[in-house]
Amino acid sequence: MADTLYIVVPCYNEEEVLHITAQKLGEKLDELEKNGKISNESRVLFVDDGSKDRTWAIINELHEKDGRFQGVKLSRNRGHQNALLAGLYTTEEKADAIISMDADLQDDIDAVDKMLDAYYDGAEVVYGVRSHRAKDSFFKRTTAEGFYKIMQALGVEIVFNHADYRLMSKRAVAGLKQFKEVNLFLRGIVPMIGFKSDKVYYERAERAAGKSKYPLKKMLGLAVDGITSFSTKPLGFIFTVAAILIALGIAGLIVTITLTALEIIPFWGIILSAMALFTGILAACTAVVGLYVGKNYMETKHRPPFIIESKTDDEK
Ligand code: UDP
Ligand code: MG
Repeated sequence: MADTLYIVVPCYNEEEVLHITAQKLGEKLDELEKNGKISNESRVLFVDDGSKDRTWAIINELHEKDGRFQGVKLSRNRGHQNALLAGLYTTEEKADAIISMDADLQDDIDAVDKMLDAYYDGAEVVYGVRSHRAKDSFFKRTTAEGFYKIMQALGVEIVFNHADYRLMSKRAVAGLKQFKEVNLFLRGIVPMIGFKSDKVYYERAERAAGKSKYPLKKMLGLAVDGITSFSTKPLGFIFTVAAILIALGIAGLIVTITLTALEIIPFWGIILSAMALFTGILAACTAVVGLYVGKNYMETKHRPPFIIESKTDDEK
């Protein structure tokens, strides 16, 4: 008997695209079931991340028409990463394998076949990797690829150009559950779980409908979270910066004293500019320390990353 697959789809204000996505996913389940790749218990789980539009109503309509479409609704918007987590932990008991996928059909549904092949070959985690970024704007491409490079340089084990389109086995999700941190960056944590993994390459399409729910501010937030959750190297940089500052300060002092003694410059010129520079750098250093302190503060609270308000099954 084939294994049971759950496809987890986080949705935030996705009323425009949900019908198309559900139709495609339904067809995919039919096809996979017919080919004996998945069991007839396989399902799609939509996670409504506190949408303000008709997303939850649509999920319920879909569920009424076809029981294979299920949903959970979070009590409020908690962000993509927490929505994914809610989906993974809700399906973990029923599924043998779980694939997470965006709601906007940017992740190529046909890559699911290859992911399942890799899974049946023994991979517990299969990463969907973008084969290229030709369709991205220059800005998005350089910032995104720069981010992956910085993460790698900081020693974080991150899969280049892999976002959150991935298959995880039941065992891998159970492993993930043991990471208790609140600040979540799944792309960084999943490789830390270990187990055999594989990659599947796919071409990322344009959004099928609706607008991006990831404005620049959210993207920057995710990047800062990613870096500070996985690396303390920025703290180490502070010491280097401080050492350079001290050396510069001593040299500057010698220069100012000499030039003032020779009456070449009024002494306060250099001091003023140096003060401005050093205060700026010090402020930046304090900010980095603050980031980590803040993170610790959040972690010690052990706040729940999400709260489920209702499920499609309750609605019946
Ligand atoms: N998303 C979410 N909560 C949020 C923002 C986004 O669940 O607060 C979901 C969104 O519905 C989509 C996925 O995360 O399924 C990726 O978002 P989007 O396609 O807008 O990002 P982009 O592809 O533009 O980076
Ligand atoms: Mg998208």
